[in-house]
Amino acid sequence: HEITVGDLARQLSVKAGELIKKLMAEGVMATINQNVDFETATLIASEYKYEVKSNLVSLDDILSSKKDAYESADQQERPPIVTIMGHVDHGKTSILDALRKAKVAAGEAGGITQHIGAYSVEKDGRKVAFLDTPGHEAFSAMRSRGAQVTDIVILVVAADDGVMPQTVEAISHAKDAGVPIIVAVNKIDKPNINLDRVYTELTEHGIQSEEWGGDTQFVKVSALQGTGLDDLIEAVLLQSEILELTAATDVPGTGAVVEAHLDKGRGPVATVMIREGTLRVGDHVVAGTKVGRVRAMTNHLGKRLKSAGPSTPVEIVGLSEVPMAGDTIDVVEGERQAREVAAWREEQAAAMASGKSSAASLEELLSKVKDADTPEVPVIVKADTQGSVEAVTEAVMKLNTDKVRNRVVHKAVGGINESDLSLAETSGAVVVAFNVRAARGLDEEAEKRGVMVKYFSVIYEIVDALKAVMAGKLPPIQ
Ligand code: GDP
Repeated sequence: HEITVGDLARQLSVKAGELIKKLMAEGVMATINQNVDFETATLIASEYKYEVKSNLVSLDDILSSKKDAYESADQQERPPIVTIMGHVDHGKTSILDALRKAKVAAGEAGGITQHIGAYSVEKDGRKVAFLDTPGHEAFSAMRSRGAQVTDIVILVVAADDGVMPQTVEAISHAKDAGVPIIVAVNKIDKPNINLDRVYTELTEHGIQSEEWGGDTQFVKVSALQGTGLDDLIEAVLLQSEILELTAATDVPGTGAVVEAHLDKGRGPVATVMIREGTLRVGDHVVAGTKVGRVRAMTNHLGKRLKSAGPSTPVEIVGLSEVPMAGDTIDVVEGERQAREVAAWREEQAAAMASGKSSAASLEELLSKVKDADTPEVPVIVKADTQGSVEAVTEAVMKLNTDKVRNRVVHKAVGGINESDLSLAETSGAVVVAFNVRAARGLDEEAEKRGVMVKYFSVIYEIVDALKAVMAGKLPPIQ
């Protein structure tokens, strides 16, 4: 009986980062994809429930009864959900647009594509869903709210530019989330490109192409000329077969809010990616803490739908207020249950906000940490030069013993940026900053989000500090 931290966060509708911090306080170190045992999960769940007022329904109960339904329901193959990431100007938006133009309009004649935040394409009767906000910011923002909707990441690397800082960030985010990567080498129409250089640089970051004996699919494309797009879809479908993605369709729908806004005429409008089950017009839903009833549902072509199944992006109207991107949306029995769940979630959020402490201190970590099977300290290394990045990483990795290990989830030259914080938040990593500072305002932000940032200018100090964190991860001596 185990549950991943991400799933637990989703069930409790709290931020994964907050949950990780909470787990830390209980002496359990786990990243978003790691399992916690049933006992721990129950303990944490009970803490989050606080004193549930008797008139409020616990979402746990509803979700666990739904889970039974899910488990007994027939599982069917479902389309993969893809996010496109990569360095700025490498062609993420161009690829999204080219795919939409080539595959959507052609497939469903008469439709005018609407930008609703997600769309799906079809090839030989098989579908692929794309999240329309490229970049790891959206990816990690959703993840930190507990909604990991992405099955596959397409990493766009411009053939004329190669691996750049945000390429590396994207790799780290995808790896930490445990999401497989497909590389789209873009702009191959340009003169004077050097594909070998791109392949070599990616190999240096642990992404090796199948042609070179690795296990990552590389697809050469030109978004500008529309070449290679079919191959890219093929690669996604192949990866999806390997992942054996399935979902139950014949159960009440559940999904994630991808985008939401207030429309003058229609009221709150939300784009939802359905994860499991079926969403129908007329369903009562709770999206985060907002309630409503699905009044109308349209797809990315503006076509009205009565119902929609797993991996389908839909735009819905009928919510009373605008939810947030990353909120989970669940079908509930009726209006009363919707209000009760919403009230329950609000109460939790308020309790969380008031009880929220400042950033974890080393001492805090130390005093409480004991752990599980493979104690691991996730670490993000930021330093002033490539040489010092390597030196720090080496120092960090040298500390590994057979009982406890450091895992470098990301390393790069430069100051601490927003991407580092979101990665630290979702992975529970300690940020080790060597001769660099955080961007303006990010120290406070780190504290708010419970991210531990340690500044150093001498390597042996890092060693001492990390040894202390690692020691804390060892089980107490009996
Ligand atoms: P994003 O920042 O990653 O979303 O990149 P964009 O899609 O905005 O593209 C950045 C620039 O690269 C734009 O000027 C595009 O026209 C150009 N571009 C994108 N794809 C290609 C391509 O395949 N070939 C060439 N030559 N230019 C491209």
